[in-house]
Amino acid sequence: MTEQILKYIKDLCETPSPTGYTKRAEKYLMEEFEKMGYKPYQNHKGNVIVPIKEGTENGLLLSAHVDTLGLMVRSIKANGRLRVTALGGYPLAYGEQENVTIITRSGKEYTGVFRINEPAVHGSTDPKEITRDDKNMEVVIDEITNSAEETEKLGISAGDFIAYDPRFRVDNGFVKSRHLDDKASAGVLMALAKDIKENNININRPLYLAFTIYEEVGHGAASGHPEGITDMIAVDMGVVYDDLKTDETKVSICAKDSSGPYNYDLTNELIEEAKANDIDYAIDIYPLYGSDASAAVASANDFRHALVGSGVAASHGYERTHVNGLNGLYKLLKSYISK
Ligand SMILES: [Zn+2]
Repeated sequence: MTEQILKYIKDLCETPSPTGYTKRAEKYLMEEFEKMGYKPYQNHKGNVIVPIKEGTENGLLLSAHVDTLGLMVRSIKANGRLRVTALGGYPLAYGEQENVTIITRSGKEYTGVFRINEPAVHGSTDPKEITRDDKNMEVVIDEITNSAEETEKLGISAGDFIAYDPRFRVDNGFVKSRHLDDKASAGVLMALAKDIKENNININRPLYLAFTIYEEVGHGAASGHPEGITDMIAVDMGVVYDDLKTDETKVSICAKDSSGPYNYDLTNELIEEAKANDIDYAIDIYPLYGSDASAAVASANDFRHALVGSGVAASHGYERTHVNGLNGLYKLLKSYISK
């Protein structure tokens, strides 16, 4: 199963989907779930919903988000380079020196690099002294352009999306990429759905998957759910930090984040399931975090809500998890939905 999970995660990571421009990831999901034999559909805002076992009572929704952090063109500078605005919340320094792809609204693509305005260490400014913000950082396009007019001629304009290179790789069990948040979880859910179909696994209640596309800006799962859902488990990255117990090899069960505590009983059910299956897990609180499940309950959905995921280090930067964390998450979810 590990190979299947990693294949889906790699495919997803290598499909650009900065929040607000997720069409390619949506298409990928629709096609893959159709191939598996499901009947996925999209709600109005574009979330991909996969009915695994239909029913209108006591339904369980498992969600993962496929939108990622990224950049958008804020303006074209007089020198032809691009001033940008961040998509999602992260220090711009985390994107420094990364290759990017600019995707215009007419579908043209250009590569470039995101960096500080004067990156040469042999010039007269010391790069160490530069504040990494949207005034001091820019995207240089891999085209010969030295003026705003020349860049406009390429078809680039304010409002175009910019995707970071994902740099996906697996080294000695460690999975590294930008965007493991939350494509690691999405890959686990895909592999689980494939397993259910191929091996006729009995599911104990109506079950739906939701792949949301606006989580990084807070409203991914605010609306548009199938009827009859009573429980929602957001499957999203576990925070790895100083005083927290989660690491990349563990399954993290979140008791509380910035939105407050998660549902007591549903969270306990996940903890009991982890214990019963000898899963290496940790219960943690995430100091600065909100999930699709908290967005759902905050917007008039009467759900019990919980949050679980494999540990992801260096979140919103060049992220890292481990196959043990991914496999543990897989085992926990599979056991919870089929017990
Ligand atoms: Zn996330």
